[in-house]
Parts: sequence; structure tokens; C-alpha cells
Amino acid sequence: MLNRLAQRPYFFDTGIRFTCRRCGTCCTGAPGIVHVNARETAAIAAYLGLPVSRVIETYLTPWEDGYRINETEDGRCLFFEDGCRVYPVRPTQCRTFPFWFRNLRSETHWKATQKACPGIGSGDYFSKDDILNILFNGMPQEIF
Ligand code: SF4
Repeated sequence: MLNRLAQRPYFFDTGIRFTCRRCGTCCTGAPGIVHVNARETAAIAAYLGLPVSRVIETYLTPWEDGYRINETEDGRCLFFEDGCRVYPVRPTQCRTFPFWFRNLRSETHWKATQKACPGIGSGDYFSKDDILNILFNGMPQEIF
């Protein structure tokens, strides 16, 4: 399927540059749902040196087949305190931002994403194949 999709033209055919500036814009502000699965929960617990049960109780709410990260009333991710406290083990959803379907489905959506994210437009180079791979398989651990 990836091969078939790679044949089609996209606005990102020549690739996109992106490096996260860790500004926190996407971790704060408008409320959102950040999904965390059991493996990611265990990794976060190990990184914070807390029992998994404590992480679930303090930071997460059951959602779909896993959990969602709790937020403050003003929409700040509970793991964001003067920077992401779990950055090396952040969930796939955070790891793959901004290369999400909803951001890449049109150039207009991408431009809106770019406006909010200062990391887009410079830094690491992602080819069309890289981007399609991230969309379908997630961000390889070694990239960040
Ligand atoms: S808005 Fe962009 S640069 Fe800022 S933390 Fe999110 S991904 Fe990184």
C-alpha cells in the first residue's frame, strides 16, 4: 500500500524540514486527546521512577484501548512543566507530530500547522518516503 501511495503526487513531494524546538505550543493551549498505550505507560513509569499504577492514577484516564493523558483546565498536558518531563519516552502521538494525517491531508491544513509550530521549515530533512512511513508506521525511535 505504501508503494502505491508513494506514486501519487503530494504537496510534500520534495520533502519537509522539521526539528522540534520544544517550545511547548503543541503541549499546551487548546484541549486535545493524547493517546497512550500500555507499553508507552510502562516506559513513562520507568523513566519517572514511579510504579505504573501511580502514573495511571496521577496522569492518565482510561480511553479506548489504553489511556489519554490528563490536562490542566487550560489544556496543558500534565507531563508538561517548563518543558516535557517525559520527552525521551513521549508517546507515539507526540513523537510523530506534526506528521499527522489531519495536518498533511492538504496544503492548507499543513500551512495552518506550520503557523503554530516553529519547528517546521528548518532542521532535519524528511523525504516524501520518510513522511509516508511515519504516517503509516510511526516515527522511528532513532530520529528523536
Ligand atoms: S509546536 Fe512544534 S516546535 Fe513546538 S513543541 Fe510542538 S512540535 Fe516542537
